[in-house]
Amino acid sequence: MKLVILDRDGTINYTSDEYIKSPEEWRALPGALEAISRLNHAGYHVVIATNQSGLGRGLMDVAAMNAIHKRMLKQLAAVGGRVDAIFYCPHAPTDGCNCRKPMPGLLEQIAERFGLEIQGVPFVGDTLNDMMAAETAGCIPHLVLTGKSEALRGQALPSVFPAGTHMHFDLNAFVDVLLKKSVEPAL
Ligand SMILES: [Zn+2]
Repeated sequence: MKLVILDRDGTINYTSDEYIKSPEEWRALPGALEAISRLNHAGYHVVIATNQSGLGRGLMDVAAMNAIHKRMLKQLAAVGGRVDAIFYCPHAPTDGCNCRKPMPGLLEQIAERFGLEIQGVPFVGDTLNDMMAAETAGCIPHLVLTGKSEALRGQALPSVFPAGTHMHFDLNAFVDVLLKKSVEPAL
C-alpha cells in the first residue's frame, strides 16, 4: 500500500502558539486539502500524526478535538480527499511519553495498525521535531516551509535537521515531487 504520513498543524492548517482548540480556529493552509486529494487520486493512503498537547495541558477535551477533525474531514471531502486515520499524542511534554514527536511512537503505531514497514514512507511536517521523529522511525523526512518553518523559505536547511531532509515550499510542492511532476526545487 502506498502511504504518506502528514503532520497536521503548520502542514495542513495554520498553526498557532495558542493551540487550535476549537473548530472555528482550524483553517486550512492554501491548497493543502487539494494536495491531499491529489495524493488520494494518485493511489496514496494518507494518515495524520499530530501532537495535541492541548489535551494534556487541559486546554481542550477529546470532544473538542474530534469536532476540529470533523470540520477538517468535511472540508477535505468537499475537494475529493480523505485520510485513513488520525493518530495523535494527547500528552503534555512533561509526561515523558513515547508518542510525542520528536519521539517515533506515533509513526510506530501507524506501522503496527496498518501492518506495514514504516521504513521509506514519506513523513511530511513543518518542524524539527517532525523531522527527528521521521528520522528515528526510518521514514523519509520531508519539511514543508509553512507553519513553523515558513521563515526558512529561501534559506539552506539548518544543520540541526537530519541529513537527507527534503525541503518543499508547501504541501502541494511536496506532492509535485512525489508524483514526479517537478524536479526537487532549488530553494
Ligand atoms: Zn504521547
